[in-house]
Amino acid sequence: MRVLITAGPTREPIDAVRYIGNRSSGRMGAALAAAALGAGHSVTLVLGPVSIAMPSQTRRIEVETAAQMHQAVISEFANHDLLIMAAAVADYRPKVVRTDKTPRQGSITIECEATEDIVADAARIKRPDQRIVGFSLELHGNIDRARDKLSRKNLDLIVYNPTETMNSESVQATLLWPDGRIESLAASEKPAFADVLMARSGALFQANAR
Ligand code: C5P
Repeated sequence: MRVLITAGPTREPIDAVRYIGNRSSGRMGAALAAAALGAGHSVTLVLGPVSIAMPSQTRRIEVETAAQMHQAVISEFANHDLLIMAAAVADYRPKVVRTDKTPRQGSITIECEATEDIVADAARIKRPDQRIVGFSLELHGNIDRARDKLSRKNLDLIVYNPTETMNSESVQATLLWPDGRIESLAASEKPAFADVLMARSGALFQANAR
């Protein structure tokens, strides 16, 4: 299987030196890439600015912004069977990016616009032989938001995990499928979780084409 995995945060520039970002380390993406390689799959990684080492033996495309990640994913998706969207994509970016370093001068307001919804756009061009897995990082108890994203973004499987997962070694996840199935997993280290998610992702191809 050819697996396309996105990992890490995106950075949305404010001016020549500053950006809007988040605490994503890329650990989940690294664990997923290692699990996919271990299961004999080939892996392309679309990487935001990650803070940890990624497994070798992968093809890598390095990006910085959500727009660049969008472009990379949309052009690569056709050559892959499975997309796992583990990146913590910024939802907003500054509408205007200053080319200089904004001087300190009282308070400032930064107007932002929504970024492209990468995984939703990938789902729009998905062939019947392809599958898409997304992540939903939410405050505890907000599983309905994950269920909503699963259907709104037209995904084949979504991983609901609490905000504590970000930049952590471990994860306590619940998997949700479009037919209403739910699987709550015990807390585990990300590599063990990644093996389970790869197995569930592989099983998506045995289901009837959606
Ligand atoms: O940020 P949100 O919780 O909506 O993310 C849910 C899923 O959508 C994740 O898999 C994330 O990688 C993806 N996403 C995306 N493009 C965005 C925001 C999120 O593909 N602009």
